[in-house]
Amino acid sequence: MARYRGSVCRLCRRENARLFLKGDRCYSEKCAIDRRNYPPGQHGQLRPKFSEYGVQLREKQKVKRIYGLMEDQFRSYFHRADRMKGITGENLLQLLERRLDNVAYRLGFASSRNEARQLVRHGHLVVNGRKVNVPSYLTRTGDVVEVRGGSQKLTRVQAALESVVRRGVPSWLELERDAFRGRVRELPKRDDLSTPEIHERLVVELYSK
Ligand code: SF4
Repeated sequence: MARYRGSVCRLCRRENARLFLKGDRCYSEKCAIDRRNYPPGQHGQLRPKFSEYGVQLREKQKVKRIYGLMEDQFRSYFHRADRMKGITGENLLQLLERRLDNVAYRLGFASSRNEARQLVRHGHLVVNGRKVNVPSYLTRTGDVVEVRGGSQKLTRVQAALESVVRRGVPSWLELERDAFRGRVRELPKRDDLSTPEIHERLVVELYSK
């Protein structure tokens, strides 16, 4: 599947927000948002005014980039969220959060969603005792996500688990750090998703045109 291979800090600068795409570096003074807080490119420092459409588009791009998705995939999440009961924007965020790569990242098995996606793809994780190598796998309440026995020795997994203390594990998940295991306690609610700041209403407005 196609995916973005350029500089991820560039994406944060484009959206003028910390999207936490690079693990520990995002929490350090080396973060590009602190050092060069203007959009990339020749005209980056001109700071153009956005139209209403532009604001909606940027918000959609931001959410898409946080979760590392391409347009088609993101749009299909939107359509699925739209068909669900409840508020479309909240449904959309909930679907994105339930992805296995995101859950692995939130539990601290990886320092970024990109790294988590690779962990899943390479078969380092099991869900309810069965190997799952599909990053878009949608977790459910009660699912137990573990790092496989041999993979627990991976330095990057251990380092990520060390640094999860700083990031914190959201309340809808439960982590048993010593066992390299986590559980989905409940589906995430809107209030559980506060960082980075997201205005999902703008995404809904954009796709509803
Ligand atoms: Fe780069 Fe992370 Fe800072 Fe974004 S938040 S600019 S990915 S270091």
